[in-house]
Amino acid sequence: MIFSPSRMGRLNKRALIRQLQKAGVASRAGLARSLGMSQPTAGKIVDELLALEILEEVEVPAGGEEGETAARLGRPGRQLRLNRTQPSFLAIHLGLSETRLAELTLGALANDEWQVSFRQPATTDPAAAWARELRGAAKPFRARKFLGILLSVPGVVDESSSRILLSPNIHWSEQVILPDIIRRHWDVPVLLVQEEYALALGHHVNHPGHDDFLLVDFGEGVGGAVLVGGKPLAGPLPIRGEIGHTPVPGNPRQCGCGATGCMETLVSVRGLLESFAGAPRRKNGSWAELHAHIAEHGVEPWLATSLEAAAAAIAGAINVVGLRRVVITGSLAELPPAVTQHLFRAIENGAMWARFGSVECVAAPRRRTAGLAAVGIDRFIVPDREQHGEPSRAAFSAKSAVKNGKIHKQTTTVNK
Ligand SMILES: [Zn+2]
Repeated sequence: MIFSPSRMGRLNKRALIRQLQKAGVASRAGLARSLGMSQPTAGKIVDELLALEILEEVEVPAGGEEGETAARLGRPGRQLRLNRTQPSFLAIHLGLSETRLAELTLGALANDEWQVSFRQPATTDPAAAWARELRGAAKPFRARKFLGILLSVPGVVDESSSRILLSPNIHWSEQVILPDIIRRHWDVPVLLVQEEYALALGHHVNHPGHDDFLLVDFGEGVGGAVLVGGKPLAGPLPIRGEIGHTPVPGNPRQCGCGATGCMETLVSVRGLLESFAGAPRRKNGSWAELHAHIAEHGVEPWLATSLEAAAAAIAGAINVVGLRRVVITGSLAELPPAVTQHLFRAIENGAMWARFGSVECVAAPRRRTAGLAAVGIDRFIVPDREQHGEPSRAAFSAKSAVKNGKIHKQTTTVNK
């Protein structure tokens, strides 16, 4: 394949930035070596990226782990990293009850830290109320020159058309183009990012060695994302990772997606609290009370059953894809450790990998912002047009198919 010089340059830049995402900090020589580039080629890219403030130079104490190479060469430990000083993006996370905002640097790694948040007012016109609240929340960031805005949202997201096709817990977000509302305050591109995808990328940025895993986030809903070879597993349709909508036999609860018995109606925050309300010996119904109750009584049968339903869906997913690592984030990870221990044991029971070797289940903090920064780098700093051209058409046709009922009809026919 022949690359034009500009495409070659873009690929080299991408590779260098990826390497820095992985390594955290590196010297010029180290970068050239790990990328198989000549030192002048790597140096030229580094200078360009330094001038654009995409990279920054840092002094690394000689003799330390990161400064080792430089110290051996007898030079001061000036190393490179992605800019962690200058905010480049604004991250906005839309939740059922709360929207959160934070500025992001390119090298954002840390656990989520939101700077501004607002509650979703109870009203008959939630979209208008959201727009009003955003105006106030935008104030501290209005003067900033962002390269782009990353909007993390739950549900079935068509990133290319900036539309949310289905949001079981925030139906009003299907009726509006959220990026248009955001652009009233900043004249920059706004990208919709499916929230579990952001969480999975954020976990990957912090654990570059973990290339293959299923992440399941528990909160207002339950959603998942699969990373294979460090990349999100994506099909032609925008529906993926919807593990929370796996039906649980015998569960009569109505789900926001329109179905009955979905797993998320049992293990989302609301689902757990609903079950807790009917639990024996319960004292109250709040999340804090649930926490205290579990700490005192352990995993009671009502909770065990719900966790096992979640574990069955998770085990099914990893058995199909062939994964042996599961990352759990969100509300379940905040409860006493007995909860995740029970969940992990149940996942192992259902995972084929456990018969041959082991399945690794971990509870991890949410790193949505780090994931959003990674998306921002990918799409705004070193976009690869060829990579992002194709899914849009498929997503559009998926949307029209959902709209005129084609997908539903086909499914019904098959089931007969
Ligand atoms: Zn559902």
